[in-house]
Amino acid sequence: MKRATLFIEELNKLGHEAYFVGGSVRDYLLKRDSFDIDIATSATPDFLMANFKAVPIGLKFGTVLILYNGSRFEVTTFRKDLNYYDNRHPEEVIFSKSINEDVLRRDFTINGLYMTKDLEVIDLIDGIKDLDNKLIKTIGNPDERFREDALRMLRAFYLVSKLEFSLDKNTFLSIHKNKELLKNISAERIYRELDKIATHQNSLEAFSLLHDSGISKYLPGLEKGIKYFVNNDIKIQKEIFFPFCFYLNGKVDKFWKLSKLNETHYQNVIKILKLEKISQSNLVKFHREDVMVASRINEILQIFPLNYQEIIKLYDEIPLKDIQELAISVDELLKIYNKNPGPWIKDIQNNLLNAIIKKEINNNHLEIIDYLEKRKDKDE
Ligand code: ATP
Ligand code: MG
Repeated sequence: MKRATLFIEELNKLGHEAYFVGGSVRDYLLKRDSFDIDIATSATPDFLMANFKAVPIGLKFGTVLILYNGSRFEVTTFRKDLNYYDNRHPEEVIFSKSINEDVLRRDFTINGLYMTKDLEVIDLIDGIKDLDNKLIKTIGNPDERFREDALRMLRAFYLVSKLEFSLDKNTFLSIHKNKELLKNISAERIYRELDKIATHQNSLEAFSLLHDSGISKYLPGLEKGIKYFVNNDIKIQKEIFFPFCFYLNGKVDKFWKLSKLNETHYQNVIKILKLEKISQSNLVKFHREDVMVASRINEILQIFPLNYQEIIKLYDEIPLKDIQELAISVDELLKIYNKNPGPWIKDIQNNLLNAIIKKEINNNHLEIIDYLEKRKDKDE
């Protein structure tokens, strides 16, 4: 923030207005950490590019990323958006000389505050009042604002989740009324916003409102899951929000155009959840097959239809979870078997792993050698 202040000062000296804006002012006033700093200015992108180290990241919409003394800020030229054509993008933006116009294109009153380099807040839309009342409310007529950009409907729930704020009644009713517009938003954008909702602390409340608004009807494959979480008061863990919804749905919905990696991971989670009984060996199997499942096994087990505590105990009691932890090295296996390296090594390691999980032997060097020698005799 210090460096951003210096940057704003420098812009001021060059004859331009510049302010902190949006999420960064909101979070500053709420004393929350802000990860991105947004700045609004009367300077055009061309001017910024000519005078600072800058990366054009959304030139069409007047946004450049400024690299300044090791910090980076998104700097957007004051603008006015004209004729939103697809419920998401303005057909044209015109750069504007003042924040009076710039503020009107921003989504919610709490996101429409500007702050000078001296930390003086400029409130043109009663944003402070809503911030005090913890209220998320569109700037201007909500029907119009959601028709311009339907993604804002999901941003409203995101802010509920992140800030633990309430939704203004008219804003909520308007989402209910306009929910169908979500059809015009791309799967990737919706996915990203839902993921953000699931990440924050108040996700249950946010999904509850989202459910009440009827918008989940336009989220293919997720409706049942959301309903389940809401009706059972389950706080949604980010990692399992999508896979659990798809589990209740019966399959991963193609609508989301997931990456192969993500899709396979979700299918693995579904497989685990579909098991009638869970044993230590299939826990290990999943643990080894899919690293993502492994790192999330705790969260997955929490929603497993069987007794969670019992399974966790089962899982914790596994003497070893991977062949890497075997108390015998590959060198030693080569010596014992006197064969060239090959796939047989993996087979033996897997046999050992299973024998140890089934408690036939302990993961102890001498016991393993003894066990292998005996089996070798049998095999020969
Ligand atoms: P976060 O804490 O996630 O950064 P944010 O509100 O700052 O939340 P950004 O994407 O960083 O979100 O956007 C910065 C600002 O740009 C917002 O605070 C808001 O003023 C404006 N903005 C962002 N998205 C939209 C939108 N879809 N419609 C209108 N204004 C928007
Ligand atoms: Mg932001």
